[in-house]
Amino acid sequence: MIPPLLIILAVIGSSSHAAAWNDLGHMMVSAIAYEQLTPETRQKVTTLLKLNPKHATWVANVPEDEKPRIAFLRASRWADDIKLDPAYEQDGSQNGNRPSGRESARNVGYEDRLQHKYWHFIDLPFSPDRTALVGPSSPNAQTQIALFRHTLTSTASSDSLKSYDLVWLIHLVADVHQPLHAVSRFDKAHMNGDDGGNGVMVCSPPCTAKERLHAFWDTVLGVSMDTTTAIETAKQLPAADPQLAAISDERVWIQESFEAAQMHVYVSPIGIGVGPFELTDSYKAAAQHVAGQRMALAGTRLANMLNDAFR
Ligand SMILES: [Zn+2]
Repeated sequence: MIPPLLIILAVIGSSSHAAAWNDLGHMMVSAIAYEQLTPETRQKVTTLLKLNPKHATWVANVPEDEKPRIAFLRASRWADDIKLDPAYEQDGSQNGNRPSGRESARNVGYEDRLQHKYWHFIDLPFSPDRTALVGPSSPNAQTQIALFRHTLTSTASSDSLKSYDLVWLIHLVADVHQPLHAVSRFDKAHMNGDDGGNGVMVCSPPCTAKERLHAFWDTVLGVSMDTTTAIETAKQLPAADPQLAAISDERVWIQESFEAAQMHVYVSPIGIGVGPFELTDSYKAAAQHVAGQRMALAGTRLANMLNDAFR
């Protein structure tokens, strides 16, 4: 059952291809993870996050004893925040959604002022109508999670680079648990793929307003920038299945999302083509349930990853 608060919070939002879980979703995943960090990991993570150029903004006016938690929540949004920051440049091709050039794979820390939007997802292809498939570009969310988690345990890396990679990891572990961040549907209307549901429109009766299928899933548990709301909403989610949460291989997380997209996202009333498709109450309820499960898993897996790295 979805608690009533979550249903009330489920309102329409908008999102670019690379957003994935909105601010509330990202902060919920971080809230779940923070609860499960060991004292040693909390200390290490707190020290590293202070090296982010926005740290002072994150914890401004926050009581001293709450600063570590709030910084951890706010850090989860940084990789999205830089897409709106004039100090950062959109790189890559196709509105920044495809990597191009050698700098797309570089890992140089905070001196890097590129947005790297193509790091937020991996477009694993499928087709319901035998349209030819094109594989995902690289680097992508999978290559970056593998790279960044390696940095955290490397004795050769500086704390500054570890901070940059940690902030990206906090974001990307959540992103790849959003089913539409691991998929691209190829059909007769999307010969180059639908960019994780961005090429498909949906609406709620009476359908006066339309939104992208991707955006519907990003915001399915609500919209908020408030850290307290994120902490309280996260507490309402059922705990992650311990056996699933123990899986540490990011390739498995991504495969799960790819399968969830085919089992729970691209299902009736979502048909082949661009839509708009009229969402039903049962589709929305199922989407909230799946999104809550994926967020709880993401949070627990993120905590496990960091506890392992900083042991
Ligand atoms: Zn993202």
